[in-house]
Amino acid sequence: MKVYSHERLARLAAGRGMSEEYLHDLRVVSSVLPFKVNDYVVNELIDWSAAPDDPIFRLTFPHRDMLPEPIFEHLSQLMQSSAEPAVLRKAALDAHAQLNPNPGAQVSANVPTRHGRRLEGVQHKYAETVLIFPAQGQTCHAYCGYCFRWAQFVGNSELKQAAPDVAEVMAYVAADPNVTDLLFTGGDPMIMSAAVLDRWVSPALAPELEHVRTLRFGTKALSYWPARFTTDADADDLLRLFERCVAAGKHVAVMAHFTHPRELETPLVREAIRRIRATGAVIRAQAPVTAHVNDRAEDWATLWQGLVEVGAIPYYMFVERDTGAQSYFGVPLVKALQVYTDAVRQVSGLARTARGPVMSAAPGKVLIDGTMTVAGTDVFSLRMLQSRDPAQVGRQFLAHLDPGAEWFSDLRPALGSWWPR
Ligand SMILES: *Cc1c(COP(=O)(O)O)cnc(C)c1O
Ligand code: SF4
Repeated sequence: MKVYSHERLARLAAGRGMSEEYLHDLRVVSSVLPFKVNDYVVNELIDWSAAPDDPIFRLTFPHRDMLPEPIFEHLSQLMQSSAEPAVLRKAALDAHAQLNPNPGAQVSANVPTRHGRRLEGVQHKYAETVLIFPAQGQTCHAYCGYCFRWAQFVGNSELKQAAPDVAEVMAYVAADPNVTDLLFTGGDPMIMSAAVLDRWVSPALAPELEHVRTLRFGTKALSYWPARFTTDADADDLLRLFERCVAAGKHVAVMAHFTHPRELETPLVREAIRRIRATGAVIRAQAPVTAHVNDRAEDWATLWQGLVEVGAIPYYMFVERDTGAQSYFGVPLVKALQVYTDAVRQVSGLARTARGPVMSAAPGKVLIDGTMTVAGTDVFSLRMLQSRDPAQVGRQFLAHLDPGAEWFSDLRPALGSWWPR
């Protein structure tokens, strides 16, 4: 795999005919936010004849609007005046702090403790599912411009934390019979070799973890590097690991991040999907709805139908989080709802397993169920799909229909509605 970031990314863009002006924007934005592509993304996914408006280009390459104007201008001037690297670095760090690097208090609020010590690299927010962030899996085969975990890729995150200890994590899970799902996440756990992944996963097959029924793997490797499951040297070992988990009685769920129907089109991804399914693992697909990339209902209808046809199950449509480049990728909640509803109307029930739009907010996963007018007031009808407090799962509530709202924190209770916290 050839990877391109920073100056190599600029040279790549130059070689593909991007303008000098764009290359300057690229250098400024990528001095603050992380960008990385590889040869598969460049050669198989991006349609260069349509760049810069091509959706996969928009997904993976910098754009000046990804930074707030004052931050962009400041760094742009520093670069034009050939500022010292230390000065640029300091400006980039200041910029990180202004871009909400740790949204949703995800770390501080969700790290469990065992014998009075914090279990670093683990999150346990919803009773039935424990998230595990293996230290070796905290990068990806390429980066999405909208990533809500961007801060960990620039080394400035609470999440960039001490390596979790497998034995310690499994002892914690063994002691909690409510945990039915382990979710290996990152970054991307598929960036790890099969041998390293095995050290994380095999302990979950022990008899003390009989109550763990499902092993999930959150990954974008099917989109960004499908060779992980086909021609990589240890691709077969990886698939054997899935098979062993299935044979041990676990449900194996590959939680695949698919952003755009283009990602399903190459012969390589189709072969990768076929091979994963042959292990007995099930592929479920999710992604955020984002401006410039996938904010048309046709994109989602085509994606969901395509997923069904290759045997993958549409799962969540997320709302872009309030962090990093949200100013560029974010769409108003009313627009996200419109895209979802129009897409659902174009597909049969088999593709309507996708739920959305969903916000992973501090109290839980909040579904925007619809809009309506109650007693003369226009409202969003919302529902808790997940909650830190299991008693709140399924609760419905109402918020004022604010056409500009892009995130949960922009919403206010309507008509005296209950509100999660
Ligand atoms: C989304 C999420 C999960 C998984 O939720 P499901 O609805 O079961 O897919 C688990 N933990 C956290 C912190 C999450 O954000
Ligand atoms: S694949 Fe996921 S973790 Fe990796 S950059 Fe994209 S959104 Fe972030």
